[in-house]
Amino acid sequence: MARYLIDLGAESALWKAAMELYHDDKVVAAYDLVKSDAAAFRGSALGAFRFIEGEARTRKASDRTKLSPTLELEWVPGEVPHHAQVGEVILHATETVSRRLQWDHRESVLATILVGEADADWHEARYGYCTDKTPYDKICLPQASTHDPRELWRVAAHEFAHVVVLNTAKGQAPHWLDEGIACFMEGRSAELAAQRLREAGRWRTPLQMGGAFGADRRDTANMGGVRAAYDQATVLVAHLHSKGGDEGLVSLLKAFTEHSRWTDLVTAIANRDPADVALQQAFELGIEELFAAAKP
Ligand SMILES: [Zn+2]
Repeated sequence: MARYLIDLGAESALWKAAMELYHDDKVVAAYDLVKSDAAAFRGSALGAFRFIEGEARTRKASDRTKLSPTLELEWVPGEVPHHAQVGEVILHATETVSRRLQWDHRESVLATILVGEADADWHEARYGYCTDKTPYDKICLPQASTHDPRELWRVAAHEFAHVVVLNTAKGQAPHWLDEGIACFMEGRSAELAAQRLREAGRWRTPLQMGGAFGADRRDTANMGGVRAAYDQATVLVAHLHSKGGDEGLVSLLKAFTEHSRWTDLVTAIANRDPADVALQQAFELGIEELFAAAKP
């Protein structure tokens, strides 16, 4: 799951204030503002409310410790008794991703193990998520993932990769690239993903991939399509990796922002997809070519 930006259109001053507090990670204050208004906007605020609620309940019961100068762990002692081992696994996962994606640690990160009660099927992002906050970015990991070090490593690497993608490409990477790099960094098998896509006869165009991750995951009928989108993203990034390695992925992320103003201008005038421009610069490959070449 990627960064979760919550935008309610600021129709309500109360919710606007709560979202500002949430983005400053003052989650308890945010929760206190909206706890009796969870059904606002005919229920459309409920998804956002669940994020605030889960993080606030965690905050009220949590301890915090520094794992490195730029990484902090937040956990609830009653639920995560072995927090030192949990911290070691998360630190290892984030350092592995940092090394591979040449992360400069310009942004600090808070890794929060959410209270178990937030891990429920009414939550849109129960498998973990990352949010772009101030003064640090935050990755939230489900309490259930702490039972198995391999699962915890996988989830931490995935969510941390989103932080690196977000900051390196300054929010311009398309959803499929963001998820593809996160899945690739967590160690998801591109071979198995390709096999599933082949068997299902599923392969989306770049345009179709745009909306593929946005389906409501609380509705189980959507899950097949969502899983296929993650599989395809993994296969696309594995294809790029086979051409340029970790270095190539880093060049691609940087290409979203490190190009001339002239390129910006031409991209805007020609209405070109920024991903197409970045792929040309880093891999000399257009987006349609990539989708055709990577198709299993
Ligand atoms: Zn993700």
